[in-house]
Amino acid sequence: MGKSFRVFRAFGADVRVHWSFFLLLGLFAFVGYGVTGSLAGALVAAGIIGVLLVCVSLHEFGHALVARRCGIGVKDITLLPIGGACRLDVLHEKPADEVKIAFAGPLANLALAALFFGAASAFGTGPLEVSGASPEIGSVGQVLAYVGFLNALLAVFNMIPAFPMDGGRILRGVLAARLGRVRATEFAAVVGQSYAFALLLLGLLGGHILLAVVAVFVFVGASGELRTVRQRESARGLTVSEVMGTRSRVRTVSPYHNLGQVLEEVLHGYQSDFPVLGEDGELAGMITRDEIHAAMNSPDRFLLVRDLMKTQLPTLSPGSKLFDSGQRLLHESGIKALPVTEDGKFAGMLTIEDVAQADLLRQLPGADEAGRSPSPATSAARGPNA
Ligand SMILES: [Zn+2]
Repeated sequence: MGKSFRVFRAFGADVRVHWSFFLLLGLFAFVGYGVTGSLAGALVAAGIIGVLLVCVSLHEFGHALVARRCGIGVKDITLLPIGGACRLDVLHEKPADEVKIAFAGPLANLALAALFFGAASAFGTGPLEVSGASPEIGSVGQVLAYVGFLNALLAVFNMIPAFPMDGGRILRGVLAARLGRVRATEFAAVVGQSYAFALLLLGLLGGHILLAVVAVFVFVGASGELRTVRQRESARGLTVSEVMGTRSRVRTVSPYHNLGQVLEEVLHGYQSDFPVLGEDGELAGMITRDEIHAAMNSPDRFLLVRDLMKTQLPTLSPGSKLFDSGQRLLHESGIKALPVTEDGKFAGMLTIEDVAQADLLRQLPGADEAGRSPSPATSAARGPNA
């Protein structure tokens, strides 16, 4: 997204302004001075950009407000001249919520446009008496009408059904109800890229450099969104067996080990939780860092593993979903490592670190556009036991 500056907090989120806004401020002041030849003209033109900033803020607050009502937190808001970005805590899981949240922004601009056109007409200026290319700054009415025009432009532009525009999210949300999130994103991304291509042609052939720049922005946004969703989905589909430490890699102890022998294992390996296997290799229990810590500082340190280990503990199956069953079971049991069994036999161990690592990959932002290797989720997610 490039450099942006934090200006204030609202809705529990940092509101940041992108540097391009300052560039635009200078440019408009310059053009305003050129057209009118007066400092007042420069100030009015710069003031219009200031008002645009407020309009974009209100657009984003529209998103933030509806997101909150859907129970979704807002991470931060970045204001860009063409709309802005409102980062949410979760990517809208429910398609219906995504549609509602996306609609709220352009709707806010439409309401503002109506308000400013209304105010302009009170000063005797009709909505069609301004042109987009250069603001005719003659009267208060014209300034108001121009701000109304900017809002209408923001609403229309953001409704283009292309990522990262709100229209793209609405399209994806509508499609996701039928196609599922990945295919809906793929479809919406292709539509977005087609739009971007058409905009680019239009911009280059018509000599509108700004339009061409916007087209590139849309194209990159569409591709990034697609990559993020694919990555997240591939991580979401991970199973316990893809992330766990397998039987051959996990160090185990026997019920007849003493604490000294367990500590030896801790010191010489990368593990702090150990499955306890009986003589036939069947799972007898687990001795985790909690039991080891507690025993170290008590008379229990002379006991054997069989007296210290946990025996009442849930087990996972290799085929269960990592983020559905695996993570939930670890969380609910409060145990930092759980054994994985298949047909009653010990198959491996899943630790909270394994899950955390896979989760990190799942949350990778779309920002890794620099062309890192695609979705290393399954290979890199293997835990510290690897
Ligand atoms: Zn928006």
